[in-house]
Amino acid sequence: MEKVKTINLNKEFGAVRAVQDVNLIINEGEILGLVGESGSGKSTLGRLILNLLEPTSGEVVFEGKPINKIPLSELRQKMQIIFQDPYSSLNPRMKIFDAIYEPLKIHKKFSKARVAELLDLVRLPQSFISRYPHELSGGERQRVVIARALALNPSFIVCDEPVSSLDVSIQAEILKLLKDLQQKLNLTYLFIAHDLAVVYNFCDRVVVMHDGRLVEENTPELLYKDPQQEYTRKLINAIPKKLYQLLA
Ligand code: ADP
Ligand code: MG
Repeated sequence: MEKVKTINLNKEFGAVRAVQDVNLIINEGEILGLVGESGSGKSTLGRLILNLLEPTSGEVVFEGKPINKIPLSELRQKMQIIFQDPYSSLNPRMKIFDAIYEPLKIHKKFSKARVAELLDLVRLPQSFISRYPHELSGGERQRVVIARALALNPSFIVCDEPVSSLDVSIQAEILKLLKDLQQKLNLTYLFIAHDLAVVYNFCDRVVVMHDGRLVEENTPELLYKDPQQEYTRKLINAIPKKLYQLLA
């Protein structure tokens, strides 16, 4: 089943054509990688899909319905986003309990037990509820951000470079957690990365974005083995050699 479909999607910021004629299908239950250099339009595409931005032209369809016909509160329950920087995604003056409880409160689901359940899901100790974000490591903060994103039981999550600001060892931990959650909860991910190495073991399928356009699509294995575009080849060559040998 198609979870998300974009039809001739365009977004212009003045003279900048950030997203150009994007036709994309994200199937239910898959992890679709979206890679490209910084500035290629990945975040803009993610935000258009979540209806956080209005397209200049074109359409986003979610579960068979045009996205602008779905009530906003329903959308915010079903679709979520996880950003790169877990520190700026959390209010520094809010304790971890309140950070995770907030979306539940907004949607009138006053369940404290759900907060405990979410901490278990992201494998954080219950004692963290009374801590503040600055008392946590980067990886722990990103776990809180993930718990918060899962609070309302979404079925689709845009992960916008969720591990880019973390140390390599912590990156692997968070990726493993995201993968486990995806399988356990049958989630669909659009997983954005500027680094092709990150998507290799993680995604079912990868699309490559260049100057606002999707230029190539394949399984990660075939994309590495036989890139069709010069641009994709450059992205592969930009992966540190040591890391690439690990992957190959
Ligand atoms: P990526 O996530 O791949 O780094 P972005 O989607 O953030 O790329 O940006 C794509 C292009 O659109 C860039 O040229 C960026 O400067 C521009 N852009 C993004 N958001 C805005 C905005 N709110 N106003 C003006 N230009 C923007
Ligand atoms: Mg971005």
